[in-house]
Amino acid sequence: MVTAVVGVNWGDEGKGKITDMLAENADIIVRFQGGANAGHTIKNSYGKFALHTLPSGVFYDHTTSIIGNGVALDVKKLFNEIKSIEEKGVPTPKILVSDRAQMVMPYHVLFDSLEEARLAGASFGSTKSGIAPFYSDKYAKIGFQVSELFEEESELRAKIERVLAQKNVLLRELYHQPEITVDEVYNTLMEYKEMLEPYICDVSAFLWNAVQEGKNILLEGQLGSMKDPDHGIYPMVTSSSTLAGYGAIGAGLPPYEIKKIVAVTKAYSSAVGAGEFVSEIFGDEAEQLRRNGGDGGEYGATTGRPRRVGWYDCVASRYGCRIQGATDVAFTVLDALGYLDEIPVCVGYEIDGKEVHDFPTTTLLKKAKPILKVMPGWKCDIRGIREYKDLPENARKYVEFIEQEIGFPITMVSNGPGREDIIYR
Ligand code: GDP
Ligand code: MG
Repeated sequence: MVTAVVGVNWGDEGKGKITDMLAENADIIVRFQGGANAGHTIKNSYGKFALHTLPSGVFYDHTTSIIGNGVALDVKKLFNEIKSIEEKGVPTPKILVSDRAQMVMPYHVLFDSLEEARLAGASFGSTKSGIAPFYSDKYAKIGFQVSELFEEESELRAKIERVLAQKNVLLRELYHQPEITVDEVYNTLMEYKEMLEPYICDVSAFLWNAVQEGKNILLEGQLGSMKDPDHGIYPMVTSSSTLAGYGAIGAGLPPYEIKKIVAVTKAYSSAVGAGEFVSEIFGDEAEQLRRNGGDGGEYGATTGRPRRVGWYDCVASRYGCRIQGATDVAFTVLDALGYLDEIPVCVGYEIDGKEVHDFPTTTLLKKAKPILKVMPGWKCDIRGIREYKDLPENARKYVEFIEQEIGFPITMVSNGPGREDIIYR
């Protein structure tokens, strides 16, 4: 069976933890979109890890981890990540890389930084991992697919020359930077070829067979609904689809095989980078939530940046679950709210004096003010609880209120960062 684990909100909802937990019963875990620009933090018996490229199932020796064709593959970062987990005692993971995945080139990373610097105050708050330039090139059909590493040298060099003709105009005229040579790019590609060769696989054929054999496959999404280029808060979105539906494309599976969609949402909100965030809070109130949030605070796994924080947003989450097609909702980091006497929840938006319950486009979203309902807190530590009925009454009321507001079943409540910190309902 194929299960997708995806984010409902702005990312950092705890997908890594949920994937790592579900991977115990999985055979294959596939990353299907995004690149090394976002991070999943995982805590297990080997230690604490921030993964950017590897799927969150690499810690088991019974799983195969796959980099799907939809991923922005940063080859060096992938290999550094494999090395870093091996150094902490994790057995060498079984990894396959799709022959149809495309590679992030050093100039993608360079252009990302140069463009952010050029935009200055109007920048996107990019992690400068080259993701936007990478996907732009993929769809402009000037990217490099893994399979192309095996082209004849003359053909590959001719393509590089065509690509660089554009790149060098930008470098020279817009960014006033030194130009890139064909040799440089060719040598980089040959380096990637040597590194990748043992791992390359026709992933869609591999997954097709796995499905026929009844294997359990997890598709691991990055970021969340709000960051989807079509359905999110455009233009403050990422450059590949973050939705479960895209899992079929970015892995190479029939869409009808995705039977379960676990939509992960956190008991409060957080976001990194710029963009609309209606229930955001500021000042001391925010600092307190940031400090209590996540596992050791809400700071980016890739960048270490303090994350923006806010109250739970039922409007955004109802939409986020719907657009993901949630069959199950995993409600995470509930334990972090134990310090609050009262917990505000955003139940609607006020836009131009009208109450709105359907998540609007960015143009309207800019004008939205949160309508808050205040729930009573439970004022205690709920970590270690394993049965739903053992949660304090106010914690259960909080979960049930949000479940009713979003209209999708919360089947898992996560009350700690570890694999075992989970309550099934
Ligand atoms: P992802 O990008 O969706 O995988 O999420 P991140 O890993 O970036 O951020 C989630 C953070 O919350 C990580 O530090 C996790 O270890 C932590 N975490 C996940 N679930 C829980 C939970 O139920 N309680 C607490 N306290 N921390 C959690
Ligand atoms: Mg994250």
